[in-house]
Amino acid sequence: MRPAGDFQAYPAVSELVALAADERPRFWVTIDTEEDFDWAAPFARTGFRLDSVPALAECQGFFERAGVVPIYLVDWPIVQDDRAVDILGKAQKVGRCDIGAQLHPWVTPPHAEDVNERNSYAGNLPDDLQRAKMTALRDAITRRFGVVPTAYRAGRYGLGSDTATMLAELGFRCDTSVRAGFDYRKGQGPDYRAAPLNPWWVSTSSGAVLEVPVTTVFGGFLGRRGQGIYHQIARNGLHAGAALARFGLVERIAMTPEGIPAERACRAIDIALDQRLPILTFSFHSPSLQPGNTPYVRTDSDLDRFYRWWDVVLGHLQRRGVEAVDTAGILAMAARNAPPGEA
Ligand SMILES: [Zn+2]
Repeated sequence: MRPAGDFQAYPAVSELVALAADERPRFWVTIDTEEDFDWAAPFARTGFRLDSVPALAECQGFFERAGVVPIYLVDWPIVQDDRAVDILGKAQKVGRCDIGAQLHPWVTPPHAEDVNERNSYAGNLPDDLQRAKMTALRDAITRRFGVVPTAYRAGRYGLGSDTATMLAELGFRCDTSVRAGFDYRKGQGPDYRAAPLNPWWVSTSSGAVLEVPVTTVFGGFLGRRGQGIYHQIARNGLHAGAALARFGLVERIAMTPEGIPAERACRAIDIALDQRLPILTFSFHSPSLQPGNTPYVRTDSDLDRFYRWWDVVLGHLQRRGVEAVDTAGILAMAARNAPPGEA
């Protein structure tokens, strides 16, 4: 048994937050709101751009028209940008978006560590330094947006064994750093292959924190049995995984417009609903809102496709009766499943 309070000590199925018999599943849109940088280059403290920040306005307008309250998980450079604070702060004040925290340790003070791949996962940093960066980010968000963030995502999904306790101490109520179905050990990051897709409560000495994993499902002919085979083959290189998908045997589908065609995402929604998941977590990175920053949106027509993706997916969610929810709504849903060991 791993110590309690560790997000990676997965609970038994009976302890997961589940849908009540008459309860409808919900979805939320989580946006890693961050600086533009070269994803293929080594990590660097400086040299990033913030060119995609004005595109947040178009994004916010789109989701407002769709009746979705997105959550912007803002990181340090975004919090320092007056344009971002203006665009997102205005929407937040009237309840049209949520502001959460995303920690990219390499651009967040205090700068005491070497910048390298291992340290890009905040959970690998010494506890004091991880806590100091989380605190700096939380305080900057509170100061700049006038709101205390309750939701957190570790950049690169880099949770550590004490992150839950730190989050509870800092007043966070919800973490969304577990990317179920993904293995980041190659870069010395976490291994989430066995992570549940339902939310669960993590108890710490400072209170409970709700984990709401980023949704990824396994589809194809082999269904859920395919997951183990997928990971086995993936170890031998990506081509084998692509071949498996091509023959329709097993495919891993992340709920994101980044690299996943809309029809596959709709199929993933159906799989998630068959599994009776209470919350579907969608995600993408804000630099994708402007052509040229990420591998997924290179041109203007890519950006058109990006928004058409949301038209298709939001339409499918509506047809299937899945409603949008914000952070407070998720916490309220999950509160009905009592946090284990809550004193
Ligand atoms: Zn990020």
